[in-house]
Amino acid sequence: MLEHEAGQHPRIPAAGHHRDVNGGWLRPAVFGAMDGLVSNFALMTGVVGGAVPSSTVVLTGLAGLAAGACSMAAGEYTSVASQRELVQAEIEAERLELSRNPHGELAELAQVYIDRGVEPELAHEVARQLSADPDRTLEVHAREELGVDPNDLPSPWVAAGSSFVCFAVGALLPLLPYLLGATSLVPALLLSAAGLFACGAVVARVTARSWWFSGLRQLLLGGAAAGVTYLLGWLIGGQIG
Ligand SMILES: [Zn+2]
Repeated sequence: MLEHEAGQHPRIPAAGHHRDVNGGWLRPAVFGAMDGLVSNFALMTGVVGGAVPSSTVVLTGLAGLAAGACSMAAGEYTSVASQRELVQAEIEAERLELSRNPHGELAELAQVYIDRGVEPELAHEVARQLSADPDRTLEVHAREELGVDPNDLPSPWVAAGSSFVCFAVGALLPLLPYLLGATSLVPALLLSAAGLFACGAVVARVTARSWWFSGLRQLLLGGAAAGVTYLLGWLIGGQIG
């Protein structure tokens, strides 16, 4: 499987006029679909290389889709949940610190602004005003010291669900012609090639590369993966068949 892009990066506050440098939802969605496409396409070409009946290819593709989508969802859930627990523990520590040592925390917040080049007097005034409301104070500290918005932490269930769906959509592509009655690999090959190119071209939107370069690169990488498994299937299929 390709290395997947987990959604656990710390959030960068939105800055209106900039391109979303994290790629927003598009990036993980396309990478998830590409993962599903490459892994299932390679898996299926592997068994086709072993010269099995198309019913076995369909079964393999379905099992590959289910196994991969569940594995991606479980991985993403664990990744986001553990990141979230870590952040929540840090926020709790900050909350405790704020109640125990409010003056020290006020000075600490002022120091954050001084370090960024604000004059000390003004920095203390900004820190004081931002700390006027106790509920807001924790939010300000979490943002400035941890780089997170405590009211907007990523949900592990959403992350798991979207990983599952994206992988499944990609994995369905090479399987679709077989489900519709195809008996040779050719339609799946063409559809997968188109899917690989399209995914690569869409990724170019967030990498500032040209769409055809990105599309071709993805096509070559996916093709290489499928070529390797086809060869393995052919070699091993010859041995055990
Ligand atoms: Zn603090």
